Amino acid sequence: MSADANCLFCKIVRREIPSTIVFENDHALAFRDIHPAAKTHVLVIPKKHIIGIAHAEPADAPTMGELLLAARKVAEQEGLGDGGYRLVINNGADAGQSVLHLHVHVLGGRPLAWPPG
Ligand code: 5GP
Ligand code: ZN
Repeated sequence: MSADANCLFCKIVRREIPSTIVFENDHALAFRDIHPAAKTHVLVIPKKHIIGIAHAEPADAPTMGELLLAARKVAEQEGLGDGGYRLVINNGADAGQSVLHLHVHVLGGRPLAWPPG
């Protein structure tokens, strides 16, 4: 399935829900998280509806590569290239995944503790 009528992030891709978009290409869309957890907090999503990393299929490999490169581009565009940043993909309940459309969190602009809580 390439789009889900009821999916929040598919609605953002279709501009049915407003968001602050910072990057877009044929494969990916990046927009600011509505509840930022760091000075910079951007979500990078595939335009294709993939529920989560556990649902990505071998045929999605090019999309996954584009997603990571888009996340790096966003980080650089946000001025995080020198100071550093973190990319996070939450999958499933224990990781706290709350939106069932694959997304990469780009976090930066403050020191990020490791390991995460
Ligand atoms: P998760 O917890 O699934 O890894 O991350 C989902 C993220 O989506 C959360 O950080 C949450 O703040 C963000 N989010 C949820 N609803 C919206 C929305 O309508 N717009 C935007 N821009 N971000 C959202
Ligand atoms: Zn979706």
